[in-house]
Amino acid sequence: MESKFTEAYQKKSEDCYDTECEKVAHILDSLVDGEASSDEQEFFNKHIESCVPCLESHQKQKLLKNLVCGHLKRVIVPETLALSIKTKIQETV
Ligand SMILES: [Zn+2]
Repeated sequence: MESKFTEAYQKKSEDCYDTECEKVAHILDSLVDGEASSDEQEFFNKHIESCVPCLESHQKQKLLKNLVCGHLKRVIVPETLALSIKTKIQETV
């Protein structure tokens, strides 16, 4: 009886993530919903400094969110931002 109860309440814990990127992807969802804790945000920020794929998906999510919110009719990426992303990518690769 007791084991069934705990099983039902077993959610994916942080230890279950295979990679940091998986964890970051999860945090990204929380960030988009505005539900990420400060610990998660810190982990996320540190990670995207060194992980370009996660940084890119973060940028995409942000653009997507702007579209979904309907505040922007078209996506405007400031040139400086685009440039800093490009530089970052080149540095890492
Ligand atoms: Zn990553």
